[in-house]
Amino acid sequence: MADVFPPDTVRCDACPVLCYIKRGQAGACDRYANLAGQLVRVDPHILLDRAKTQGTPLVPFLEREGEWDGKLMKPHETFVTAIGAGTTYPDYKAAPFIVSAEVEGVDMVTVVTEGIFSYCGVKLKIDTDRFLGPERNVVRAQGEPVGHVTTAEYGSQMLSIGGVHHLTGGTRSEGRVTCETLLDLCNGKAVALAIDDGARISVAAGQPPVVNGQREERMRVGCGSAAIGMFAKQWFGKVDEVVVLDDHITGVLSEHQAGKMLGVPETGIAMHGRRSTPGRYFQVAQPGTGWGGTNISDPLSILKPFKAKIAWPNLRLLMVSTTGEHFAYYELDQDLRPVERELPEVLKESVARIRENCEPALTTVLFMAGAGGSLRAGVTENPVKLTNSVKQSLTRVTSGGAPAYIWPGGGITFMVDVSRMPENAFGYVPTPALVAPIEFTLKKADYAALGGHVDSVRPLDEVLREKERRRQITSLVKNPWPLKPPGGDPRA
Ligand code: SF4
Repeated sequence: MADVFPPDTVRCDACPVLCYIKRGQAGACDRYANLAGQLVRVDPHILLDRAKTQGTPLVPFLEREGEWDGKLMKPHETFVTAIGAGTTYPDYKAAPFIVSAEVEGVDMVTVVTEGIFSYCGVKLKIDTDRFLGPERNVVRAQGEPVGHVTTAEYGSQMLSIGGVHHLTGGTRSEGRVTCETLLDLCNGKAVALAIDDGARISVAAGQPPVVNGQREERMRVGCGSAAIGMFAKQWFGKVDEVVVLDDHITGVLSEHQAGKMLGVPETGIAMHGRRSTPGRYFQVAQPGTGWGGTNISDPLSILKPFKAKIAWPNLRLLMVSTTGEHFAYYELDQDLRPVERELPEVLKESVARIRENCEPALTTVLFMAGAGGSLRAGVTENPVKLTNSVKQSLTRVTSGGAPAYIWPGGGITFMVDVSRMPENAFGYVPTPALVAPIEFTLKKADYAALGGHVDSVRPLDEVLREKERRRQITSLVKNPWPLKPPGGDPRA
């Protein structure tokens, strides 16, 4: 029996929720609305205009001319993104836009859809030495579990947020908050997160992280051992001993190979922690938000008494963190106990040099999702052929025109840096799942060969003649132009 619903009500079939939408109102996700009895996609459809000159300081993704004025555009310099393109559901229907254009004498096709992803999440790279929490511990937003702490990287703490288990496997509230958190992170908004037995942080893509209320300025120059290797020459002759304090690998100049090569004499220093190799110590303290990502505020607490047979009164000792943010200078008294003194002028430059070599601390948000499922049916009647075509690099995958990294192995598991995408490229549906743009670009002949929906292919100018809201923005100069025929140099 056909569905019966009030006059002037439309039914949206762009996702499994299948909203009935009254006249003048929007559906549950705010992406679709009933405008005068017609179902419309609320946001404008985004077209990318190729940046004319690589290196020209164009303002990325800024509206160039506002709403598209209907002027004819050059097909090879216009890329139809999936942002605002809409979704078709169920998936066996052809994708909302399958657009053809001639590029460098080659007929190309771009298949465009806003994918609905239940299998998705973000990887957060947070440039900080400060301890955020033990690996595997739960990350919460609004009190709900939305992810976990994963393996730390060099100078960065990593969080994994989202994923199908949080979206679908917990309570309704957990799924809703996870979806909201992912949406905000992907659209560049700041999100407050709390880590069990760890820190409270505020993070946003491309912005410095805030850890326990403190805005992070710099990421470390390297581990403590690396810092000794880099700066040993600058310390040689100006100070007798240097300790670069680090939660992972603390470096000691006189014992380190760099110090040995320069002929730095033994100082009788004795360290807490576990000696790994000469001049490199693990676990000198507990992780924390103090010196070098440890929990200490007094650097002397990592030292045992100096060896009386080797050390000498007035021995000069510099202790510094891996960012140069913390430093202290000492001289041994007659009992070989360190006494803090003002940092001598000759050492100020070396501490400043550490800070100078620390890059700005940022938060990076990588969206990761699986497009190897039913979404492929909107592209081809034989989904595995799309997977194979992507694997053979015959089909290029982009997200809002930004390059996507495809994971090796099965499926089409892709990853994209959200800061390379236009603003507000993501949406959601209340199933809950994230909506992300995805475009597949390939030669028209290859599209036919993989069983594509060739009857739904339309030339670009025909698509542009439709009375839809479109917005033209300039592509990001650092992104390769997505419409180049696969196989060529996309930067050319
Ligand atoms: S949630 Fe959004 S996409 Fe899904 S049916 Fe409702 S309006 Fe359409």
